[in-house]
Amino acid sequence: MADTIFGRIARGEAAADLVYEDDQAVAFRDLNPQAPVHILVIPRKPIARLSEAAADDEALLGHLFRVATRVAQDADLSDWRVVVNDGAGAGQSVFHLHVHVIGGRPLSWPPG
Ligand code: AMP
Repeated sequence: MADTIFGRIARGEAAADLVYEDDQAVAFRDLNPQAPVHILVIPRKPIARLSEAAADDEALLGHLFRVATRVAQDADLSDWRVVVNDGAGAGQSVFHLHVHVIGGRPLSWPPG
């Protein structure tokens, strides 16, 4: 896949406001937050989009959700939303898989 800004953040080559990192994942604050808390969780492994994850990425995908929960709880959220935009038509603009963690205000449904 093509390299992206998130790949550079994952490799420590670009700056981000990191809130968590481990050997598999990095979490950082969104540059254009849509809520008081808006954090992105990405795998260090370059996967362009959710639908391109392979069968052997199953544990990694689970880990991303565990990290999403951890950073939400660390931000003192009691309710929050996780979002994965898969493809340009769904709003994906950076083609390195990322999980949005959004909270800190009432969240309506359905999303736009
Ligand atoms: P998506 O539209 O699902 O691809 O989400 C991409 C998100 O990445 C958007 O919410 C952007 O505001 C955010 N974003 C883009 N570049 C950066 C960056 N360098 N650091 C933090 N967030 C970013």
